[in-house]
Amino acid sequence: MTLEVNSECVFCKIVAGDLPCHRVYSDDNVFGFLDIGPVSPGHVLVIPKRHFETLVDLPAELAATMGSVLPKMAKAVIESTGADGLNVLQNNGVCAGQVVNHAHFHLVPRVADDGLGYRWRAGKYEPGEAEKLCEQISAALAL
Ligand code: AMP
Ligand code: ZN
Repeated sequence: MTLEVNSECVFCKIVAGDLPCHRVYSDDNVFGFLDIGPVSPGHVLVIPKRHFETLVDLPAELAATMGSVLPKMAKAVIESTGADGLNVLQNNGVCAGQVVNHAHFHLVPRVADDGLGYRWRAGKYEPGEAEKLCEQISAALAL
């Protein structure tokens, strides 16, 4: 269920100032703060101020606003931490590792040989499978 504010939501409480955080960014629609359990120093979460559970729930205009903030947030995180690069991670649903049900982007600064790793096993399509998926996804987008 999608609500403007969810009184049970830890990120809504942070936005409202009812829970503490290390805030790095705030505008009318978007909020950025340090992840309490950083994967690396400077790990930032970027969230919409309004409560939407997943990426799929975000209104396009809000998603565009968030997209317009991400590059400057990423640049600030990289420059201030001295990182060599950065991962953007966005989990949707329990099966995908989402723990907090308020849509969020992780910005994880990376340095060479930091040992964090990041490799998913690459798969392979059976003959005709890619074509079928391509058709299905294109059709869904046309709806
Ligand atoms: P996800 O697994 O994508 O839902 O990530 C949720 C993230 O929220 C985790 O990396 C947590 O460390 C982080 N988190 C949970 N509670 C807080 C909090 N009170 N302040 C900052 N970060 C939090
Ligand atoms: Zn929320």
